[in-house]
Amino acid sequence: MSGPGFDLARVRADFPILRQEVRGRPLVYLDSAATGQKPQAVLDAITRYYTHDNANVHRGVHILSERATQAFEDARETVRRFIHAKDVREVIFVRGTTEAINLVAATYGRKHVGPGDEVLISAMEHHSNIVPWQMVCDAAGAKLRVIPVDERGELRMDTVDALLTEKTRLLAITHVSNALGSVNPIKELVAKAHAKNIPVLVDGAQSVTHFPVDVQDLGCDFYAFSGHKLFGPTGIGVLYGKLSMLESLPPYQGGGDMILSVTMEKTVYNRVPHRFEAGTPDMAGAVGLAAAIRYLEAVGMQNVSQHDQWLLAYATDALQSIPGLKLVGTAPHKTGVLSFTLEDVHPHDVGTILDQEGICIRTGHHCAQPLMQRFGVAATARASLALYNTREDVDALVKGLHKVKEVFA
Ligand code: PMP
Repeated sequence: MSGPGFDLARVRADFPILRQEVRGRPLVYLDSAATGQKPQAVLDAITRYYTHDNANVHRGVHILSERATQAFEDARETVRRFIHAKDVREVIFVRGTTEAINLVAATYGRKHVGPGDEVLISAMEHHSNIVPWQMVCDAAGAKLRVIPVDERGELRMDTVDALLTEKTRLLAITHVSNALGSVNPIKELVAKAHAKNIPVLVDGAQSVTHFPVDVQDLGCDFYAFSGHKLFGPTGIGVLYGKLSMLESLPPYQGGGDMILSVTMEKTVYNRVPHRFEAGTPDMAGAVGLAAAIRYLEAVGMQNVSQHDQWLLAYATDALQSIPGLKLVGTAPHKTGVLSFTLEDVHPHDVGTILDQEGICIRTGHHCAQPLMQRFGVAATARASLALYNTREDVDALVKGLHKVKEVFA
């Protein structure tokens, strides 16, 4: 990979939080898989919304409510464009990936998963794409089945056909593993599932941040992601669903905005997407998310992807040069996630010593305990890359890891 594909110094300068020193050293932020930092454009959009436009949406007759509704609905259109959905009604605002998956579990799951049925997931899922399905299966008397993962952290595609059976009601799978970085062949999985009339939900929490996503091209029925990982605010996320699928589902939460009319005897539910958005939504969150998307579009998601692959290659080489360091997750097709163990130093000690050097990484099971069990570790240290990271960040990490080795020598 020739280079980042954009002016990295300029992009970096757009993220004010990165300008600080911590523990007497320049901040090195390598924890973007947990949450992304926010460009000034996002901070400004949120301030502008609260300073000029704030009112409750969809209900008011006054000018501020009109403006707030416009901003909220414009944000929906920005999301539609970003993920290349066909229809703006296919974009539902939720709190994040977790709520998006729970929404599908509570609607599709409740309606379609019955006794003896199966829900298929993979061994590399985040807990938020495991637990809701366990709950659905427990309630229905259904069975959770799991696509295994090989030594490199790749999905065992050779097992998929046999796991998709006439009992399978849904395939729920991550696009990119948060703990390993592996990228799953979603299009191929969708083709396999659809050949047997099985809908597919994709957890896109770690993919939309790294490369362009086209839900129509993927063909999936649902796609979930979080605003905060996409360099937008916390508290906002998206569930994409195919219109025909969404229209066939019962409502999720009951309350204001999701109704057309209510009498004490009967409620007529609102149309999609509002049917799934009970209560006052996070208007400022949606506005901030739209600003984050516009920012990424200006940089160009192809460029973001090129930078990711360029820095991942550099970081992989650099980390592998450290004696005793073992990368967990070495799939040929991965994003900028580097999970590792370092001899028998506990990952939390690795993280704590790096923190003293001003370097932020993640340690633990990454909300993927079954995956950790698969690799025979309780935890890993994880450095994750984003568009504002530089080779200097990686160099600082390598230097910090040598220091960890010295301490534990
Ligand atoms: N899925 C994956 C793959 C993730 O990485 C995460 C966040 N770590 C989630 C789901 C949950 O996202 P959120 O906490 O924003 O709902």
